[in-house]
Amino acid sequence: MFAGSLLITSAQLKSPDEFLGYPLGDQYTPHHKIVSYFQQAAAAKPTMMKLEQYGQTNEGRPLMLAFIGTPENISKLEDIRKNNLRLTGMLSDQPGDLNTPSIVWLSYNVHGNETSSSEVSMKTLYELLNPGNVQTKEYLKNTIVIIDPCINPDGRDRYVNWFTQMKGKNANPNTNAREHSEPWPGGRYNHYNFDLNRDWAWQTQLETQQRMVQYNRWMPQVHSDYHEQGYNNPYYFAPAAQPYHEVITPWQRDFQVVIGKNNAKYFDANGWLYFTKEVFDLFYPSYGDTYPIYNGSIGMTFEQGGGGRAGSAVVIGNGDTLTLKDRIAHHFTTSMSTLEVVSKNSSNVLKEFKHFFDDARNNGVGEYKSFVITDANTNKINGLKRLLDVNGITYGTANISNLKGFNYFTGKEETFNATNSLVVSTYQPKAVLAKVLFEPRSKLIDSATYDITAWSLPYVYGLQAYAVREKVAVTPYAEKQKSVTVPETSYGYLVSYGSFEDAKFLASIINAGIRVRYAEKDFSLNGNKFKRGTMIVLKNGNEGKMESFKQAAGKYDANVTAISSGFVETGADFGSGKVRFISKPTVAMLTGKGVDASAAGEVWHLFDQELNYPLTLINAEDIANVNWKNIDVLILPNGKYKFLSEKDGANELKTWVRQGGKLIAIENAVAQMAAGDWGIKLKKNEDEKKEEKPMTYAEIKKFEESEHNGITSNIAGAIYKIEMDNSHPLALGFPNYFYNLKQDDNLYDFLKDGWNVGVIKKDSYTAGFVGHNLKEKIKEGLSIGAQDYGRGSIVYLADDPIFRCFWENGKMLFTNAVFLVGQ
Ligand SMILES: [Zn+2]
Repeated sequence: MFAGSLLITSAQLKSPDEFLGYPLGDQYTPHHKIVSYFQQAAAAKPTMMKLEQYGQTNEGRPLMLAFIGTPENISKLEDIRKNNLRLTGMLSDQPGDLNTPSIVWLSYNVHGNETSSSEVSMKTLYELLNPGNVQTKEYLKNTIVIIDPCINPDGRDRYVNWFTQMKGKNANPNTNAREHSEPWPGGRYNHYNFDLNRDWAWQTQLETQQRMVQYNRWMPQVHSDYHEQGYNNPYYFAPAAQPYHEVITPWQRDFQVVIGKNNAKYFDANGWLYFTKEVFDLFYPSYGDTYPIYNGSIGMTFEQGGGGRAGSAVVIGNGDTLTLKDRIAHHFTTSMSTLEVVSKNSSNVLKEFKHFFDDARNNGVGEYKSFVITDANTNKINGLKRLLDVNGITYGTANISNLKGFNYFTGKEETFNATNSLVVSTYQPKAVLAKVLFEPRSKLIDSATYDITAWSLPYVYGLQAYAVREKVAVTPYAEKQKSVTVPETSYGYLVSYGSFEDAKFLASIINAGIRVRYAEKDFSLNGNKFKRGTMIVLKNGNEGKMESFKQAAGKYDANVTAISSGFVETGADFGSGKVRFISKPTVAMLTGKGVDASAAGEVWHLFDQELNYPLTLINAEDIANVNWKNIDVLILPNGKYKFLSEKDGANELKTWVRQGGKLIAIENAVAQMAAGDWGIKLKKNEDEKKEEKPMTYAEIKKFEESEHNGITSNIAGAIYKIEMDNSHPLALGFPNYFYNLKQDDNLYDFLKDGWNVGVIKKDSYTAGFVGHNLKEKIKEGLSIGAQDYGRGSIVYLADDPIFRCFWENGKMLFTNAVFLVGQ
C-alpha cells in the first residue's frame, strides 16, 4: 500500500493516472480495470454520472454505459430519454419538446485490437467530470454524453493479455518483434470471431443484441465509433467517402463536414496529419456509422493509425515512432471536438433530428412505400419478425386483392393478392432503415465500397415478397396462435421441413437421441399430401423419448401431424429405402492458423448458439494427429489448407471420405480441392483460354484511372439466384431456387460424377454491384455441389451460405449438408 493512499476516499474523483498507478498510455489497461475506473468515477460523482451495466459478453465480462451530464440533467435522465424518443415518434404519448439536451454517444473499442480508444474512454470520462475543466462543463449544459468504454471486452482482453505477455520491460518499436504479430484469431473479433462492426442491423451477436436494446431506448443525435487503421496511415475522420447511400440527408452530409472541420482545426494546430472523404464509405447498413445514420443520427467512424500490429510503440514508414500515447491524444482530441461542435449547434441538431423522423412518418421514404410479405411459411416469417422487432421496425397485416408491386422472385412488376400478409410501411419512425433493408436494389453512386452491396431481406430470408409504390393500409399484425400441444399418437408423427427453424428442431431431436427418418419423395397418407423432406418420427424405437420430442416441437414451432398408420397411398412406405434414417453425426471443423477466422466463427456460432449441437474444433495444424475414427463430418471453412496441396495430407483425407466420411468444403477450400484431383474443377472463362495478345491503343489506361479500372473486375458481394435441384437431400425444403451472396468470381464446371445441386445460369444475377468484366464471367457454372466418394460424400459450397450468420435462408442449406446428405 502506498503511503497516503488510505487518505483518498472513494468520494474523490481520481484521474486515470492516479487510479491506474501509471501514466495513461504507458501500458495497456485490462478491461476489468477500466470497469473499476468507471465505477470509482460513478461513486465519486453520483450527481453528474450514472453507470449502468447493460449486459455481459460471451466470456462473462460486463458491458457498460456511462451517462454524463449536469446534476440537473442527470436527475431527470429518464424524462430526457422519454422526451428524446417522442422527438422520433417511437414514443407517441405526447409531442416531444425541443428544449432538451442533445445526446452524444461515444463508442470505444468495437474492434478489440484497436486498443487506444478504451484507454481514451477513461480520459474522456475524467475530463467531463473534472471540476477544473471549464470547457466540458460548458458542453454538458446542453448535452448528455453516453460513453460505452468498450463494446468488445472479450476481443480487447484477448489482445491486451497476449500483448502484455509478449513484451519485455519496454515496448519494442521494431516491427519484427513478436509483439507486433498477433496470433490467430486476433483481438479484432468477439468470442465467436465475429466483427461487431458488421453486426449492428443483424444483431446475431450477444454484445450487439444487448447494446441495441439500449440504443433504441436512447436514439442519440450523434454517434462516434472509434477505430484504428494500419499504423502507416495517420488519422481519418468524417466527412466520409463515397458511396453514400441515397437516403443520407443533406443535413447529415453537411454536419459531418462541420464536425470534420472542427477536428481539422485541432489537428492543424498540433501539426498532425489526417485525411477525410476517402476509404470509409456510407453504404452497408450494419456499421457503427451507417446504422446510426439510417436511424436519424450523425454517425461517424474515427480511425487512428495503430491496430493490432502497432504494439504500444512502433516505427512507422517515415521513420517516426508512433506510441500508444500519441494514439490516445488523437482520439481524445476528436472526442472533445465532437462534443464541442454538438454543444455549439445543439438546437439545430435537435431540430434536424426531429425533422428526419417527422418527414419519415408523414411522407414515407423512397420509391416503394410498402413491402408486402406474402409468403405462407410461418417459421420463416417469424425469423424476419424477430429482426424487425430488434430494430424497432413496425409492421401490420393487409388483406387486399389486386395490388401491384415488384415481385422480388421474378424481378417483374406484377398484380398480386395480399392475403394475411405482413406489411412494412415506410410511413414510420424507422422508415429509412426499413427502406435500406428491404429495397430490392440499392443505388450505388460509386462502386469502390468497403463491403457487400446487396442485403435485401426477402432474399436473405427467402421470403416471397413485393415492393409496392403506394401506401398500403394495414391493420395490427395478428399473431398466429401457437399450437402448443402435440396430439397423442399410436404410431408416430410427421413433421414438415422448410425453414431454418425446422432444421434447428431436427438438430435438437437428433441430438436428444430421437430416431428420425426423412422421405426422399412426396407421399400421401390418409388423404393428405406430404412433401419430400418430411420428417418421420415413429413411436417404435423412440420409447421414453416422446416427451422430449413434444417439448422440442413446441419450442421450435414445428408443424406436426399425428398418424396412426404408416401405410401410404402414394409414394414410399416408411420401411422403404426411399425413406432415409438420419444417424447422429459427430461433427468437426478445422480452425486456427490459415483458416479464415470469421468464416470459422460463423460455423462455430451456428452450432454452439443456434443449433445447440456439439461441434469439435480442431486446429488445422494438428490435422496429422486427428483420430479419424471419431469423426463423421468434417467442415473446412474458407481458408488456406496446406495439407490439401500436400500429397500425404490429401490422401489421408481421401481415405477417410472413401471409408464413409463426409467432407463439407466452403469457399476457398473448394478452390483448393479444385486444384487437386477430387473431381471438381474451376471454370475457366473464354478470355483466360485465349492466348495473350498485345494490347491495343484503345486498351491503355491513364495512371489516375487506376483505382476505377480495378472495379470492372470487382465483386464486393452481390446476390445471385441459384437454381436448386430440390430433389437432392442438400436442397430439401427449398423451392427450386435459393438466393446466395456471391463474393468472388469462383465458379466451377458442372460435375460429371456428382450432383449439380445449385447452379448459376445465364441470367442469375439479381442485385448488388458486379464489375462488367465479371458479370460476363459469372454465368453457367456450379455453385453448390455434392459428390459420392467411395462410401462417403463431399459437399462443395463455393459461396458462403451463412454469411455473418445473418443470411438466414442459407442456414438450412448448411444443416442439410451436415445432417441429410449421404444418409
Ligand atoms: Zn476498426
